[in-house]
Amino acid sequence: MTVPIECSKVKFAVAAVREATLMVRRVQQELVTPAITKEDRSPVTVADFAAQALVGKRLEEAFPEMGFVGEENADALRGEEGRETLEQITHFVRQAEPDASPEDICKWIDRGAGEAADEFWTLDPVDGTKGFLRRDQYAVALAYIRDGYVRVGVLGCPELVDGVRPEKRGPGSLLVARRTSGSWVASLSGDQESWQRLAVSDQANVSGARLLRSVERAHTNTGGIGQLVARLGITADPVPMDSQAKYAVLAAGGGEVNLRLLSPKRLDYREKIWDQAAGSIVVEEAGGKVSDLDGKPLDFSYGRTLATNRGILATNRHLHDTLLTGLKRIGA
Ligand code: AMP
Ligand code: MG
Repeated sequence: MTVPIECSKVKFAVAAVREATLMVRRVQQELVTPAITKEDRSPVTVADFAAQALVGKRLEEAFPEMGFVGEENADALRGEEGRETLEQITHFVRQAEPDASPEDICKWIDRGAGEAADEFWTLDPVDGTKGFLRRDQYAVALAYIRDGYVRVGVLGCPELVDGVRPEKRGPGSLLVARRTSGSWVASLSGDQESWQRLAVSDQANVSGARLLRSVERAHTNTGGIGQLVARLGITADPVPMDSQAKYAVLAAGGGEVNLRLLSPKRLDYREKIWDQAAGSIVVEEAGGKVSDLDGKPLDFSYGRTLATNRGILATNRHLHDTLLTGLKRIGA
C-alpha cells in the first residue's frame, strides 16, 4: 500500500524524509562510536548538514519555486576550518547523489536560508541532537506551511516502532499527516508499506495522564512541571524524551501530554518553527490538540520562530482545558 493520501506534497515529503532519515541513521552507525568523546558533536554536525543538503536537493527538483526554511546554513563549511567536515558530508550525500560536489552540497544546504513566505517548507534535519549522540530518540522533521498553517508534516523517527514504542536499532517509524486527511504511520524501512491510521489516547482522567517532556533541562522547566504534576494529581512520573518523537508518541496514543514550559533562564525563548511544525500537525490530525501555554493556537506566519506564542501544550484533546487551568494556577 502506498501513502494513503492522494497528494503530491505528501508523496514527496514521505520519500524525502525516508531517504534523509535512513542517511542520518547511517551517519550515526558509522560515526557515533564508543571512541568519540562526550563533547564531540561532529557526528551530529555531519548528519545535520547531509540531511539538509539532500532535502534541499530534492526540493530543488520537485518544488523549485517554493521557499525553504531549514535550521542550518553552509557558512561554517565554506572556509578552511570546514573543509574536513564538508568532505565527510560529501561522502554520505554521494551515497544518494553520486555526482554531488562539495559546492553543490553547500548550495543545496543554503536553499534553506529562504524566507517564510505565503507557502514554504521547513526542515529540522536532526531534531534532538543530544538524543542522536546518546543513541536515544531523535527525528527528521519536514513540514509544508501555507498562510500560517501547517498543511503537511512528516516525521522520521528511527528509534520508535509503530510511532510509539522505543526500540534501539529496530525498523523505525515514518509518520505523515495532511490537514483533514489524518495521521498515518508506517515502518521507516519501507519493507512492508502498510500504513496504519493513528489516534490519540482517549484517557479523560488527568490523574492517569502520561506527560512527555524534554530530557534537556535547559529546554523546559522541570521544576514547573513537577508543580503542575502535583497540583493536578498526576500519578505517573513525567517521561523524558528528546525531539519531536514526543509528538509521535502522543499521536499514537502512548502518552496524553507533550509540554514545553519556558526555562526560567530563557523566559524570552520563542520556539523555532522547524521544532514544532511537523509534530504539531501529526498530533492534531490524530485527534489531539496543540496550543501554546496560554491556549493560543500556534501561528506559523511570523518567520523562523513562533514569535507570538509562549511554550507548547499538546494533548490528547480531552485533557487540554484541565492542563491549561493547571498551568494558570502555577503561574506558568
Ligand atoms: P528537545 O529534544 O525537546 O529537548 O528539543 C530540542 C529543541 O529544543 C532543539 O531543536 C532546539 O531548537 C530547542 N531549544 C534550544 N534552546 C531552547 C530553549 N531555551 N527552550 C526551548 N527549546 C530550546
Ligand atoms: Mg530541533
